Amino acid sequence: MTRVAFIGLGNMGGGMAANQAKAGREVMAFDLSPAALAKSAAAGCSVAGSVAEAVKAADAVITMLPAGPHVRQVYAEQILPNAPRTALLVDCSTIDVDSARAVAAQAKAAGFRFADAPVSGGTAAAEAGTLAFMVGCDEPDFAAVEQIIEPMSRITIRAGDHGAGQAAKICNNMVLGISMIGVCEAFALAEKLGLDGERFFEIASKSSGQCWSLTSYCPWPGPVPTAPSNRGYEGGFAAAMMLKDLKLAQEASARAGAATPLGATAEGLYALFDRLGGGGKDFSAILEMLRGNAPG
Ligand code: NAD
Repeated sequence: MTRVAFIGLGNMGGGMAANQAKAGREVMAFDLSPAALAKSAAAGCSVAGSVAEAVKAADAVITMLPAGPHVRQVYAEQILPNAPRTALLVDCSTIDVDSARAVAAQAKAAGFRFADAPVSGGTAAAEAGTLAFMVGCDEPDFAAVEQIIEPMSRITIRAGDHGAGQAAKICNNMVLGISMIGVCEAFALAEKLGLDGERFFEIASKSSGQCWSLTSYCPWPGPVPTAPSNRGYEGGFAAAMMLKDLKLAQEASARAGAATPLGATAEGLYALFDRLGGGGKDFSAILEMLRGNAPG
């Protein structure tokens, strides 16, 4: 039986680890949060007392952590010194390209195979096992990465060498942040014009305004039952995480000399929403700020 160590059991990692267990793999799970650990135990995972304990007999290690500094620290201090050299290391967190390349270089130097494999799809897809994975790894390792990812995935695409998965993710999420703000502005304007929100959805979802932010993750409560807008914008993809991704895009853009003015505006709007107290809400809650309401 494949032994998978799963580190980081939050909004995304919890569902992903559960799908590894459902696929018949032996999952050793660890998170700093006792509540997250209890949830994973109920979903069929074994609970470890530390990262070191979780990885010590692993065939594969999957990490789903908040940001670059967490990934750098957990790899340098716990995973690389304790995992067997044969373990395949797959980081699914969204982090900066430089951190991904630095961790890949350390892992490779220590004799490991490593992949950056960030995901797109949100918590519903994490629970359903239908995430999209974008992978940066050495070409010969891709088949093994795909096999480990399979129970969590709808589609897995190799973007290129180490760091390429994160580059794809940062560009994708810049589109998402910009498009969500566009959809929210349209609902706020429709409301001011006296147009019913559900009727606007019905029309725009069948017209050229159609996009994922509208039809899969609608910020207006009602039309898309699985969207966080129907549960007070709780769970889902936190606005603070979206802000993190937009900052990563702007930093990468400045270094690469790219022109990303709408990305910069989206970063500014999410920074404002975060400062107003909305960082813990799902990122579609920025609708409330654009309607002139206080978050929460
Ligand atoms: P989260 O904050 O819910 O989960 C992160 C988990 O990591 C927490 O449970 C935390 O306790 C744990 N953690 C932090 N440091 C740790 C350590 N040293 N050892 C063990 N556990 C540790 O975040 P999330 O929403 O699950 O997102 C995780 C990653 O996935 C982020 O990089 C995010 O950008 C990315 N992502 C999130 C979504 C989404 O919709 N939520 C979608 C795509 C990608």
